[in-house]
Amino acid sequence: MLDGDRAAWVARDAAVVWHGFTQMSAFAENEPVVVASAEGRELIDVDGTRYLDAISSLWVNTLGHHVQELDDAIREQLDLVAHSTMLGNGNRVVVELAEALARVVPVDDAHFLFASDGATAVEQAIKVAFQSFANRGIEGRTTFCALTGAYHGDSVGAMSLGDDGGFGASIFDPLRFPVVRAQSYDDAAAVVRERGNELAAVVVEPLVQAAGGMLLHEPEALARLAAACHEAGVLLIADEIATGFGRTGTLFAVEQAGVRPDMVVLGKGMTAGYLPMSATAVSRAVYDAFLGPDLSDRTLYHGHSFGGNALAAAVALRHLELLDSWDVLANVRDRSAQLGALLDARIAGLAAVKEVRLKGLMAGVELAPPMPGLRWGRRVCAAMVQRGVLLRPLGDVVVLMPILTSTADEIERIVDALAASIAEVCR
Ligand SMILES: *Cc1c(COP(=O)(O)O)cnc(C)c1O
Repeated sequence: MLDGDRAAWVARDAAVVWHGFTQMSAFAENEPVVVASAEGRELIDVDGTRYLDAISSLWVNTLGHHVQELDDAIREQLDLVAHSTMLGNGNRVVVELAEALARVVPVDDAHFLFASDGATAVEQAIKVAFQSFANRGIEGRTTFCALTGAYHGDSVGAMSLGDDGGFGASIFDPLRFPVVRAQSYDDAAAVVRERGNELAAVVVEPLVQAAGGMLLHEPEALARLAAACHEAGVLLIADEIATGFGRTGTLFAVEQAGVRPDMVVLGKGMTAGYLPMSATAVSRAVYDAFLGPDLSDRTLYHGHSFGGNALAAAVALRHLELLDSWDVLANVRDRSAQLGALLDARIAGLAAVKEVRLKGLMAGVELAPPMPGLRWGRRVCAAMVQRGVLLRPLGDVVVLMPILTSTADEIERIVDALAASIAEVCR
């Protein structure tokens, strides 16, 4: 039996699986965890070793693993139907989910176009924005504005909006469509004022550029950008894939800026981390530009096979109810205050640390290696995994992304492991 033998499972894995964002020649050396099961906020590997999931399984998990209420939602839906197509037809649980989302997603009279991954929901937003101007007979608004350090996913359109910093997107430059790059929300507002008649939309990650290294932006600047877009008739698209569903302390980050974008893109935490589901929420005004005679050119000819999957919709719907009934946002704010205080007291002042950035329960601890090539980010995270806390860095930024239901003890455990790991690696 290979069961219980981590090295053997890693070898079997490396023989047949290609891991994303991973140099496979170094995969086995980096001592990957091979997960067999999970309980609460801990992942359990093939040897039975437990790890606190401090990256929320790459930012998707919100309430924990193996949550009875969420498991039940999927089992109950399984007794009805697992999946049926959304192309031209409906599904009861998807209608119920869209109604529940419409009540909370900050988009006016929203319609929801469902997909499966964040990147595909971003593609939908790009195409909807572009075609909405074509459908209205407005010429010349064919360009998008996006930010320095932006990340919107790995498909070619999403990668075009994204900056090339660190993720190798520039290799694909001949395939990427050109965008107007702005340095900040205020810079984007200036672009909108100067070149608004060329722009279909401005696409931003609200308040936190996560994959860019947990870079923070002011809500007031986002409000100024929204006003400039509104003034110039340029659509504002908020990519809430990382920030949505409570991660920043409000259900959606744009709420903190008092902004209602023309489109909001949802993904990651949408199903509490259970199943792949994403959606593009589109305002009534944009949606109306697509109405016309049956089979006409005004139709949005776009849709993914598994968009609006019923199992995913069932768990997403139960997730929304639990966020509310468990008052998860209050826990996010309390644990965020605690995490901030601990990072200030024990981490921010260390010589090895350049900066600590925190919003809600998303944090970046930027290390300050004295020379390049030391792989401090990688090695600090590896040392934390040794201490039973699972993390993954972004370069030399150690990303802390605790599950939203984390306890005070678990937050302390993360900071304890971080302090010890920095002391061990950064000498
Ligand atoms: C993760 C992420 C995406 C891409 O989502 P996938 O589900 O990985 O395709 C897009 N935008 C932001 C802000 C993200 O954090």
